[in-house]
Amino acid sequence: MRPENLKTAREEQSGVGETPTACSGVTIGQAVLRGVLGRCPCCGKGRMFRAFLKIADRCSACGEELHHHRADDFPAYLVIVMVGHIVVPMVYSVETQFRPPEWVHLALWLPLTLGLALALIQPVKGAVVALQWAMGMHGFEPARKARELAARRVVPPSYRATT
Ligand SMILES: [Zn+2]
Repeated sequence: MRPENLKTAREEQSGVGETPTACSGVTIGQAVLRGVLGRCPCCGKGRMFRAFLKIADRCSACGEELHHHRADDFPAYLVIVMVGHIVVPMVYSVETQFRPPEWVHLALWLPLTLGLALALIQPVKGAVVALQWAMGMHGFEPARKARELAARRVVPPSYRATT
């Protein structure tokens, strides 16, 4: 038996129509799209971020726990690859066709690079966290198993309401 303070928000809310496996039908694609939009991968309504790059501990709408993520530096690596594949060909193209002075390069590419990185980092982090959630990676594994069981209309004892 778990201590009372380890109950999830969803368990605390149980009995008011919310089931612990309400998001059992969410596909990986749906979850990732919701993550890109900064929404909870489970319900698509609550916000995934409590600050620009800070993941909320749990969804404010459905209570799904999100603190299990281990995105670490992976979103930043993805953004570097994406921005590099956008900016470097543009730099090469402009240089070979127009040969502008260096200050033009600096004026063009520094703001573009910074802007793209800032624009992409939150959607990419949201997608990574949603993918981890959908695949049951790290601490998301019990929730994924509960969704799979719910899809077969079986609720494991650990997710049953205790009240
Ligand atoms: Zn939610």
